[in-house]
Amino acid sequence: MWKQKVALVTGGSRGIGRGICAQLGQAGYAVVVNYATRPDAAAEVVAEITKAGGQAVAAGGSVAVAEDRQGLMARALQRFGRIDVLVNNAGITSQGRKDILEATEASWDTVFNTNLKGPFFLTQLVANEMVRQIDEKIITDGKIVNISSISAHTISLNRADYCITKTAIGVMTKLYAQRLAEFGIGVFEICPGVIESDMTAGVKEKYDRLIAEGLWPIRRWGRPDDVAKAVLAVVSDYFPFSTGECINVDGGFHIRTL
Ligand code: NAP
Repeated sequence: MWKQKVALVTGGSRGIGRGICAQLGQAGYAVVVNYATRPDAAAEVVAEITKAGGQAVAAGGSVAVAEDRQGLMARALQRFGRIDVLVNNAGITSQGRKDILEATEASWDTVFNTNLKGPFFLTQLVANEMVRQIDEKIITDGKIVNISSISAHTISLNRADYCITKTAIGVMTKLYAQRLAEFGIGVFEICPGVIESDMTAGVKEKYDRLIAEGLWPIRRWGRPDDVAKAVLAVVSDYFPFSTGECINVDGGFHIRTL
């Protein structure tokens, strides 16, 4: 049996997920680095972790596809034999970022399948496995961390589907938190603000200006590492009497100011 704790990070190959993988790898977790379309990027993350003396494996598959979710967990178990942490990070923005009056069903389906159906059923799959492993004393407890967004509480008219999925992730977090507490599995939501990644590369100039004007109190871009540190705090049990909690990593953007 693998002695290190094992973390499965969806969308671990780029952006925020990559930062989470690096942070967890450094902290001694064996990391399963999931990717959907870019094996090269996942291989880089694995190489970085192993070069630093850690353990990692790449695992391809779309969280939106049931067989891929099964395959992902099977890969983690085949390589490491246990799973202590699931980070539901993989997510996509609204396809074409169309105004709500022009938004398409095609974008709705793609975004919902990736951002909501995928995490919901992957959590179900992994949670059942964690319960079994806790019962068999393979692991002592479990942590599930859902990467949501400020879009859970702040609307964008050109990303309605994205905002709705992120709001629903908050409800999903509470549902699983309630159901899994009795087994010793904590479930958390992290709401990042605007973070430097491929997802936000296209709106860089807009946010450079807005941040300089004071859109949020801490006047800089968020970085993947900011989110990764919050994930590490949660999985390291620094919130032992909390579950279903949302942690904002947004430079203070959620503060309403008069
Ligand atoms: P990103 O740079 O676009 O990276 C997305 C990652 O998700 C990639 O590793 C990608 O893998 C993977 N992915 C996409 N679709 C997938 C699927 N169906 N199955 C498995 N993996 C998939 O995005 P990011 O900015 O890091 O965002 C990560 C998460 O943070 C998302 O849930 C996003 O909503 C949330 N978030 C981001 C921001 C921000 O400002 N960036 C703010 C708030 C919340 P491939 O490279 O293989 O395609």
